[in-house]
Amino acid sequence: MSGLDLLAPDRRALFIGGRWREAASGKRFSVLDPADGSTLTDVADGGAEDALAALAAAAGAQADWARTAPRDRGEILRRAFELVVERADDFAELVSLEMGKTLAEAKGEVLYGAEFLRWFSEEAVRVHGRWMQAPAGGSRLLTVRKPVGPCLFITPWNFPLAMGTRKIGPAVAAGCTMIVKPAELTPLSMLALAGVMQEAGLPDGVLNVVTTHHSAVLSETLMADRRLRKVSFTGSTTVGKVLVRQSAGELQRMSMELGGNAPFIVFDDADVDAAVDGAMIAKMRNMGEACTAANRFLVQEGVATLFAEKLAARMGALTVGRGQDAGVDVGPLIDAKAVESVQKLVNDAVVEGARIVVGGSAPEGPGTFFQPTVLLDVPSEAEINVQEIFGPVAPITVFTTEEEAVARANATEYGLSSYVYTRDLARAIRMAETLEYGMVGINTGLVSNAAAPFGGVKHSGFGREGGFEGIEEYLDTTYVAIPVS
Ligand code: NAD
Repeated sequence: MSGLDLLAPDRRALFIGGRWREAASGKRFSVLDPADGSTLTDVADGGAEDALAALAAAAGAQADWARTAPRDRGEILRRAFELVVERADDFAELVSLEMGKTLAEAKGEVLYGAEFLRWFSEEAVRVHGRWMQAPAGGSRLLTVRKPVGPCLFITPWNFPLAMGTRKIGPAVAAGCTMIVKPAELTPLSMLALAGVMQEAGLPDGVLNVVTTHHSAVLSETLMADRRLRKVSFTGSTTVGKVLVRQSAGELQRMSMELGGNAPFIVFDDADVDAAVDGAMIAKMRNMGEACTAANRFLVQEGVATLFAEKLAARMGALTVGRGQDAGVDVGPLIDAKAVESVQKLVNDAVVEGARIVVGGSAPEGPGTFFQPTVLLDVPSEAEINVQEIFGPVAPITVFTTEEEAVARANATEYGLSSYVYTRDLARAIRMAETLEYGMVGINTGLVSNAAAPFGGVKHSGFGREGGFEGIEEYLDTTYVAIPVS
């Protein structure tokens, strides 16, 4: 078996109440290969009627699922983890085909995504309340943790599998039922995962997947319905704000994993080679199409030229091509719009005074590729330092003092991940405390870990995925007062 074979033709459909079915409208939409724009396959185009059928299935399954023993829920997740790992190469091929990333990166995503199933299989049995005596005596105060209820998960195209398992793992562990709406550009991996969850023993109706080309219709329909209790969204800040506004009607609980504008700060006292290694990961993971991607390189004046030269040599040596081909380091961007947007940011930076050290443009077509690029002397106020680049471009800005680095790093509405390279422990601690970010990597270019609380502050959102915190997003607390005298 391989790639697309993971998803039998009759499973390129909606998954509702444990069954695969066509959309009520009978409509379907195409899924494209970003490397050449050809059609990979098509999937069902769900509408409002299908969304409500999925909610009915989720709401119908909720009470029984909440009563299922935590150990049983944990073991289903554990089996699902094992099945995904067993089929990791096939999942990787599917992720690579629909999203474009290289097979090696796709395998990395699959194993990272599977870790959330394992971690939350272990957390399912560690949900507990508390028992205490009221301060004035006389009463006992108990807390009972309960699943929030039916959830809606909306996920982006850049990590088609892992952005789903980060939500499905804790929701299953907590006893919630759910409807997943994967990105329309990359719906296949999530459909394949639904099959695995069923095989692992997840009861019908607990997990439902609705693919659609009309995301807003689906979310508006579901969020207007009182049965839906929670929404967890990973995607752009713009859409996140729309959903938060939409949640006011029925006051669903919200988790928001939104965009980032990560600073990658290199001090004069850093190990420059280690910083370049870290930069390659923080910048080039997922071709730069990651919310955690290093977006602004802030390098202290003493090492700026050396860092830029070393980074440019590494970036210039990367091979760009089709993600499934051997020897390829950098796959295509997701679509032509993405290439246009990256090119515009580079062109604007050059007009503002930046120098291209390597790359700078899209290679001759076909396909939506962009050359790995390093820019030096980029003014702080250039648009490329303000927006998420979402492409393989590293803009470098030089700074003089630590205070200046902190001020520049924090001068953004975003606050997801940040990276600091220094050999000075006290400085590392000061940076971790003063950077206004949900995550700080000290001498590392990779912060993602299923055992850690992933998430942002400011316009990067709220809520955490992974770690001990991840399951909290799916639990409510009932307090029980018991007078004893
Ligand atoms: P997007 O916001 O365009 O789409 C995300 C999802 O929302 C997709 O499933 C899409 O179909 C759906 N959607 C779009 N408009 C909608 C609407 N009006 N109502 C309901 N759903 C709607 O984002 P994208 O381009 O798919 O993903 C890239 C963005 O995601 C970047 O900003 C990136 O930083 C962010 N991201 C964040 C994290 C994180 O954990 N913080 C992780 C990955 C990606």
